[in-house]
Amino acid sequence: MINFEKYINNIKIKNNTKDVPVFSCLIKDKKIVFHSNNNSYKRKKITGHAEINVINKAIRKMNNANLSDLTLFTTLEPCLMCYGAIKQAKISNVVYLTENIKMSFRNDVNIDEIKMNITKLEDSKLELKYQNLISDFFKHKRK
Ligand SMILES: [Zn+2]
Repeated sequence: MINFEKYINNIKIKNNTKDVPVFSCLIKDKKIVFHSNNNSYKRKKITGHAEINVINKAIRKMNNANLSDLTLFTTLEPCLMCYGAIKQAKISNVVYLTENIKMSFRNDVNIDEIKMNITKLEDSKLELKYQNLISDFFKHKRK
């Protein structure tokens, strides 16, 4: 079992960041091979979501756009844009920690028709920790 908690603890909420804290990583043989965070606000790029960042990083470093042998883990359920990128990279196994009520790809895609294995990580303790981090972020942002 990978210690995601360590990485989630590392998503620091800086005073001046407006980027929602999202952590994504690619896993092979039960090991994290690449990881990234959301930085779309910082980099002024709509595509700067953690999932797309980690996919781009893997493609660059491996010099291969076929990531079918990797599993994507992400703290927040992917949005429609990231779902498209995951599909383009041929990743068929996705694990997420918490639901993304507002922006989930499920809001736009028929879940019964997708050819992707998307499962929720059953770790309520870690999920609660992450949800607290997200709500602290939004509290801080509103100030
Ligand atoms: Zn996204």
